[in-house]
Amino acid sequence: MIPVEFEYEVAESVEHGVELLGSRGDAKVLAGGHSLLPLMRLRVARPGLLVDLGRLDELRYVREADGGIAIGALTRHHDLVQDGLLRRSCPVLAHAASLVGDPQVRHRGTIGGSVAHGDPASDLPTVLLALDAELSARGPDGERTIPAAEFFRGVFETALEPEEVLAEIRVPAATGTYVKFNRRAQDWATVGVAVARTNGAVHVGLTSMGPTPLRATAVETALAGGAAPEEAAEQADEGTSPPSDTNGSADFRRHLARVLVRRALETTAV
Ligand code: FAD
Repeated sequence: MIPVEFEYEVAESVEHGVELLGSRGDAKVLAGGHSLLPLMRLRVARPGLLVDLGRLDELRYVREADGGIAIGALTRHHDLVQDGLLRRSCPVLAHAASLVGDPQVRHRGTIGGSVAHGDPASDLPTVLLALDAELSARGPDGERTIPAAEFFRGVFETALEPEEVLAEIRVPAATGTYVKFNRRAQDWATVGVAVARTNGAVHVGLTSMGPTPLRATAVETALAGGAAPEEAAEQADEGTSPPSDTNGSADFRRHLARVLVRRALETTAV
């Protein structure tokens, strides 16, 4: 299908992008375009103005910051996979990025787009939730920081205001892993599990187990109380509401969550 007619502007800076977003009520950011453009072609999304951030190299970086790592929102999945600092200090995020889609998607798609899109089947938001990441947004009133735990509100719904640009994602140094189950290589996750160990605590995130990425809090509590990984993993689906769709039933997803959490915990030697 062909999208409905829209206008197109290139943002020269983040501030210019914010200004353009505020210029009309139906403007949307364009980053890698790998989630937005398919929705526009299906006419599910009908923005009247696309604000292209794609040329803002100032939002493409991975660097040390306050003992953790700061990542520019326009950093592409492929660059996360390749980045030496991220691979050393937060390998769980670099590894998860390597499992996103196919090489074409990873060369165009951005971490900011993946987060701002709010798709509960996306891989990186789950990892950021497990890492207790901080998301920095810039809008007409300046900059604000949103904890990952407060960012994801529902299916395709986030805490970002329409006039805000997601600028930076900050994560702590952490060990851990991301395990993804899909029926065919390059498919979206039927279920995904992130395990992150940071400052002595073990955090567990779940993909495709509800309308947003979720924390497996029952598992985390059991581990903190001294439970063995296989025992804690039995509670992986507690408090979740997985969908039933062509990739699997809700019951299958609950089963997968328990199996994948156990595997991820064993891999991370928790
Ligand atoms: P865009 O499509 O440009 O934007 C997505 C949304 O976010 C839009 O609403 C846009 O307005 C908003 N947005 C983007 N950047 C910002 C910003 N900085 N500030 C504010 N709002 C912003 N993802 C996975 O996690 N796992 C997969 O296995 C996977 N497989 C895929 C397979 C295919 C064939 C395709 C096409 C995509 C797949 N994706 C997958 C999605 C991919 O990761 C996308 O790149 C990503 O979800 C969106 O990033 P983008 O830069 O392309 O964003």
